[in-house]
Amino acid sequence: MPVAAATPAAPDAATSLEFSIPDALRTFLDGHRRLFVLTGAGCSTDSGIPDYRDHNGDWKRAQPVMLQRFLSDDSTRKRYWARSLVGWQRMHAAQPNDAHRALASLERQGRVELLVTQNVDGLHQAAGSRDVVDLHGRIDVVRCLGCADRLPRAAVQAELLRRNPRFADLDAAIAPDGDADLESRAFDSFDVPACAHCGGMLKPDVVFFGEGVPKARVDTAMAAVQRADAMLIVGSSLMVYSGYRFAQAMAAAGKPIAALNMGRTRADDLLALKVTERCTDALQFLLSAP
Ligand SMILES: [Zn+2]
Repeated sequence: MPVAAATPAAPDAATSLEFSIPDALRTFLDGHRRLFVLTGAGCSTDSGIPDYRDHNGDWKRAQPVMLQRFLSDDSTRKRYWARSLVGWQRMHAAQPNDAHRALASLERQGRVELLVTQNVDGLHQAAGSRDVVDLHGRIDVVRCLGCADRLPRAAVQAELLRRNPRFADLDAAIAPDGDADLESRAFDSFDVPACAHCGGMLKPDVVFFGEGVPKARVDTAMAAVQRADAMLIVGSSLMVYSGYRFAQAMAAAGKPIAALNMGRTRADDLLALKVTERCTDALQFLLSAP
C-alpha cells in the first residue's frame, strides 16, 4: 500500500497554523467514521512523560526491568521500587495534553470505536475518554501477586515513603513506566512493603517487559478492530508486538491505517497515511471542531 507522507512544508512551518494542520489527516478521519485508535508514549510526551524510543525506534536508555528478574531477584525489586518511588511523584502530577483532549473530543463526536493505549498513565481517562482499554495496565494501581488484592498506588507510595524517608527527596529523569534513573544509588537498604493481607509480593498493575498482555484486553481490542473501518495510531512506534498485532489485523482485513508519529514505526509498510508531526500539533484541529 503506498504511503502518503504528510509533513509540514518547511522546517519553520510549525509557526504557521495553515501549514501545521495536516489536511491529509483530517481527510482520513473525515472519510472513516469508526476509528480504532491506538496510542503510545508519544501521546504523553507533552505531558512531561518521556518516550522510551528515539526516532529510529531504538531504546533511548537502558531497557526497563524484565518480569522474570522482578519476580526472582530481591535486589531488582528493591531497585525498582526505589526508582518508582521517585518516578511516581512526577507521573502522579502529570496532566492530560491537547492530544488526549483531541481524542476525547473525537469520542464525544461518536467517532471512536475503541481507544486502546499502550500508556499506563491514565491520561486519556483524565482527559475525558471513556471507552479505553489500558493494554499494559495502570501505574496508579498495585496488585498483590499472592491474593490478587488491588490497591491504589498512592497508598503504596505513602508506605514506601514511611519506610524509606531518605529516598523521598531524590529526583531523577523518569521513564514512561514511572521508573527513574538512579543507577548509582545503593538500594540494599531499601525496605519494600509486602501485602498487608497475605504478605504476598506487590507489583504495579502494569505489564512488564517479558510479560503477556491479559487475554481479555486483547480480545476486547480485536473485537473492536473487526467493527472499525480504519485505524489511527497516535504516538507509537509499534515496536512492541502487543500493539503491532492490531495493525497487522487491520491490514489483513484490508482496512486503512494512518499513523501520527515523530519517527519510524514498525508498521510503516502497512500505512495508508503517515504524519510526522507532534501529536498535540497534528490533532489540534479536533479541538476546534463544532
Ligand atoms: Zn495479598
